[in-house]
Amino acid sequence: MENISIQQFKKEYVKKFEQLYAYRYDEGSSREHFVALGELVRNYYMNNWKSTIDEYKEKETKQVFYFSMEFLPGRMLKSNLLNLDILPVVEEGLRELGLDLDEVSMGEADPALGNGGLGRLASCFMDSIASTGLAGHGNGIRYQYGLFKQKFIDGYQVELPENWLRNGNVWEVRKENKAVIVRFGGQVYMDTDEEGNLYPRYENTKNILAVPYDVPQIGYHNGIVNNLRLWSAEIPYGEEYLFRTEEERDEVKQITEVLYPDDSNYEGRLLRLRQEYFFSSAGVQSIIRYFKTLDEDWSLLPDKIAIHINDTHPALVVPELMRILIDEEELTWDQAWEITKKTISYTNHTILQEAMERWPIDMLEHLLPRIYHIIAEINRRHIEKKIPLYGEELTYRTTIIEDGQVKMANLAIIGSHSINGVAKLHTNILINETLHDFYLMYPNKFNNKTNGITQRRWVQLSNPGLTSLLDDVIGTDWKSNPEELILLKAHVDNSELLNRLEAVKLENKKRFAKYVKDEMGIEIDPNAIFDVQIKRLHAYKRQLLNVLHILDRYSQIKENPDIDIPKRVFIFGAKAAPSYHYAKQIIKLINAVADLVNNDTDIKDLIKIVFVENYGVSLAELIIPAADISEQISLAGKEASGTSNMKLMANGALTMATMDGATIEIYDYVGKENIYIFGLKNNDVKKYHQNQSYNSRNIYEGNASIKRVLNMLVDGSIPGIYHEGQDIFNSLVKFNDEYFLLKDFDSYIQAHKQADKDYQDREKWNRMALLNVANSGPFSSDYTILRYADEIWKIEPQVENLISSYTPVKEV
Ligand SMILES: *Cc1c(COP(=O)(O)O)cnc(C)c1O
Repeated sequence: MENISIQQFKKEYVKKFEQLYAYRYDEGSSREHFVALGELVRNYYMNNWKSTIDEYKEKETKQVFYFSMEFLPGRMLKSNLLNLDILPVVEEGLRELGLDLDEVSMGEADPALGNGGLGRLASCFMDSIASTGLAGHGNGIRYQYGLFKQKFIDGYQVELPENWLRNGNVWEVRKENKAVIVRFGGQVYMDTDEEGNLYPRYENTKNILAVPYDVPQIGYHNGIVNNLRLWSAEIPYGEEYLFRTEEERDEVKQITEVLYPDDSNYEGRLLRLRQEYFFSSAGVQSIIRYFKTLDEDWSLLPDKIAIHINDTHPALVVPELMRILIDEEELTWDQAWEITKKTISYTNHTILQEAMERWPIDMLEHLLPRIYHIIAEINRRHIEKKIPLYGEELTYRTTIIEDGQVKMANLAIIGSHSINGVAKLHTNILINETLHDFYLMYPNKFNNKTNGITQRRWVQLSNPGLTSLLDDVIGTDWKSNPEELILLKAHVDNSELLNRLEAVKLENKKRFAKYVKDEMGIEIDPNAIFDVQIKRLHAYKRQLLNVLHILDRYSQIKENPDIDIPKRVFIFGAKAAPSYHYAKQIIKLINAVADLVNNDTDIKDLIKIVFVENYGVSLAELIIPAADISEQISLAGKEASGTSNMKLMANGALTMATMDGATIEIYDYVGKENIYIFGLKNNDVKKYHQNQSYNSRNIYEGNASIKRVLNMLVDGSIPGIYHEGQDIFNSLVKFNDEYFLLKDFDSYIQAHKQADKDYQDREKWNRMALLNVANSGPFSSDYTILRYADEIWKIEPQVENLISSYTPVKEV
């Protein structure tokens, strides 16, 4: 945007505030200041938003639409200011008015429209698409209630509704005139029209109005503003009389009322299926409406439009696009099928069987009769075509419909031209194991796109201290080209710089310590090691292994009070799905151990445990810059990629990790001297499974430290966990420890001992931290997104590309 002076900003701001509230600006609350500032900032991007969209249309630029059931953007004020290049002016202007931007920023609600990594990835991608100058937009759901607000009561997780829209949303624009109708239920018959053509006739359908709310996605210093379109369900105008009962009206509202709180877990419920079809259909309809304004031949659709589906939640775009092309635009099946496959691409996010979407035929057929017909026909033709080529056995292992269920991953693979995993190991597991049958049929569809994160939010905004250090030492080019961070490497022996890096970290730790003191009343020492595990609570992520380490350390200190180890603060942030009993038991355990340890004076503060309530993007922004150790300790082969590993690395935390997900690639970049690796490898785990040779009870019986720690779960050492302790003990000993915690325990403890030792050598530690920052550039989502654009979507940046060093890499 054009330059704005501090003077001018102040004038405009005061005017805007007083126009909105009719009293002096210095009487306003931070919420009111946020609204006023947001309203003003809108004026600064509205022209660019319009001209960006107009230009794509005028030039008929190919555009990608990223369909995701979740977006987890975090607060948008500062990010918008940063990308508009007015952050310093606004900050200074507010200061001169006696206001603090950070406080004003707290007036914004954090839109938790996602569960965790998958939703956050979608938001990093939105930022990177706009910032690298790509024509791309998001498509999702405008949930009235985001992910539940987490509270701990007596150490147990309690879920409260998250009414994030209570005070409105300054960034969104409701576009009633762009609404579309989405049809559910009823019956479909094939009928013939006057000319004797077959067409599907719908009867007794429930028609729901999908109203889009558009949210700007502002590119970094490039004038581009793309669109995130979130759909809301309403009763169609003039059809209120068709929804007579309260129940019928509620059913409509419910569609976009609340986000399902399950992460890496499949919920086979009708409302979820409604949500999935609702935003898939609305998104495809609005894309088709746009394409028709271009007045091009249908065969050119894949040259103008790419549709990407983030996991299988939007996989119904495949039959929905087929439906529109065949039923409404009257293309032949073969024409429609070619177009559909060429347009759609798919990202797989998990190999966990419990997360794979499968819908009962009955449910799908009842809710979406025509869509089910089309899926059945896709399946029939797939079988007919593949049997002669691959035989019955292989072909029947790849069908979409099996055992009364519709397998969404199979639909997504068959109906698209590209399927990617999200880290090298994950993609290799898909190719060689999980989806091997499909790989034999379609080797060219498979590719890897390792996830990424945006340094704009995760370094520039959340770690201003590190940002100005980097600017001073290597200049500012890293901000538009993060691989430039490697220039830091030349300074690895500059002890003055290393001290400065340590000072920045210490400031960030003090900032977090203040939050912990104010919010939780726990006193933590900023000089202690801040050991951080922040992610959804899931058995495969093994927060429990972290707890076992804490209990072992606690026992050692009790036994030997003069032990010479640095202080540690164990920091947890994690929500559990409300129905995930075991995960909630682990939350209770962590809180119980925290109560025990934090209040035991024998420990002399050598251990503190901080389990923050309601972990989300805003807390991540506070914790990550303060982290010394990044816990990435999933059982090898289970974490598809991970992205908190990348955010923490970029902020100078050292990674404590198994060889899993993208952490393997972090290891490849930083080198083995600058990371703590422990535990089984994927192949080791595979062998144990093949030979069925794992026996956790033997380990328990034969390993004195493990026995001591596990016994604490059941012998009353930890007050308040009678049932939880017993259940968790049983999962580890009686039910053979599904995630191999006991097997990895010793090497985990060893790795932590090494970290204790290294931390006491401040220079060594700081050097390792510096090398982590220096090697974090390749994990920028800007590069990830340029690979998607180049290799999958076939679209090119619309502005002069600031990222000069991007080289397409052929992986897998
Ligand atoms: C990055 C992020 C995640 C993903 O963390 P993983 O450790 O990769 O699972 C989850 N939640 C939030 C709020 C995040 O910012």
